[in-house]
Amino acid sequence: MTEATADFSGFGLSKLRLAAVEALGWTRPTPIQQQAIPLVTEGRDVVGIARTGTGKTGAFMLPALEALKEGDGLQVLVLCPTRELAQQVCEDTDALARGSAVRAAVIHGGVAYGPQLDALARGDEVVVATPGRLIDLQQRGRARLKGVRLLILDEADRMLDMGFRPQIEQVVRGLGKRPQTLMFSATMPNAVHDLALRMTRDPAWIEVTPSGTMAQGISEIAYSVRPELKPDLLVHLLAQPGWDQVLVFTRTKIGADTLQARLAKARISCDVIHSNRQMRHRTRAIDRFSEGKVRVLVATDIAQRGLDIEGISHVVNYDVPLDPGDYVHRIGRTGRAGATGEAVTFVTASDLGAFRTLENQLERRLDKVHHPDFDFAGGVVVERREPSRARSRSGRGMGSKAGARLAPDELAALLSHEN
Ligand code: AMP
Repeated sequence: MTEATADFSGFGLSKLRLAAVEALGWTRPTPIQQQAIPLVTEGRDVVGIARTGTGKTGAFMLPALEALKEGDGLQVLVLCPTRELAQQVCEDTDALARGSAVRAAVIHGGVAYGPQLDALARGDEVVVATPGRLIDLQQRGRARLKGVRLLILDEADRMLDMGFRPQIEQVVRGLGKRPQTLMFSATMPNAVHDLALRMTRDPAWIEVTPSGTMAQGISEIAYSVRPELKPDLLVHLLAQPGWDQVLVFTRTKIGADTLQARLAKARISCDVIHSNRQMRHRTRAIDRFSEGKVRVLVATDIAQRGLDIEGISHVVNYDVPLDPGDYVHRIGRTGRAGATGEAVTFVTASDLGAFRTLENQLERRLDKVHHPDFDFAGGVVVERREPSRARSRSGRGMGSKAGARLAPDELAALLSHEN
């Protein structure tokens, strides 16, 4: 581990870069920046376990920009899982490259080819791309990647989740000499570990938040709720003090649209982003939310990774996320860069199994809230599931009798894991 640096002056960055950092209002490097900047500057490959929100873009882009030769064409390639993240990284790059002639281009699907072709023809030094469109352009002979000297795989776990491994490998085959390679991932499941071993050479492994656990500053709670009362619970919570800017995740696009209609009825300003919405609409919705013109943004998972919006007070998992990585990424939208935030997960009776699994994978228990007006533990019929081994041993498994009624205390015990 590298010794901590009190401010940015200890990294040997150029005056221009220090001015850009200052203009952004960054006074102290974040832990990932402290660790990664010297390693990247030395030319080491790095595998970083860090979620978005830790300052990792600065961690790789500051040394990347220092090492660039202006006017030498494409040298730094960043691969990202989503358009939103690609745009965000590109914007951050522009801000960090402020005052220099370095240009960064963003390449992703869903938009016209023209500007992207122009950027490639012009030889922008940095390209931030989602794998699909980049390969498309590579196959058309329009993306020449031979000059890439630094490759960054951002949110590698998410890229693998989205099935991008073949595309990543194809892009890498199109590079010239093996570039210095950095890989960042919020979680380190085996598939990501394997990819790291394949793509990097003698990498330095750094970690700022242990895999699967949360950064400080975010409190996490779960509400037990009857499914039909989920919208009412959300409206109730939105009326509480401090619920200023709220990001809500739903599992389905229809669920997102339905919820928006319900919130509109309650006169709560709200917008929706999901993959059926045009890029133009998604960008506008995110801008309006960032500017505080809209208080609630409802999103499906597709949109979750690239969102970098300051001041989100609450993240709501309207549906229990099935993947712990999704959970970590979703709630990482709040409490960014040292701010505090609250992550709230709605748990219905039929979610209990999935919720328990999630907690086990996260290796922590979330605080539970049983609000009398919304709690399902009022003698409702519970959808029975296969018992987990632990539950069947205790003889109180949910899967024991299909459709049977659980007493309120039994449900409360299940929720609080005292069974
Ligand atoms: P990232 O993890 O790269 O998406 O960064 C998350 C947020 O933290 C962005 O809004 C950055 O502008 C901000 N940020 C990055 N580094 C610093 C820093 N050293 N001090 C304050 N804010 C930072």
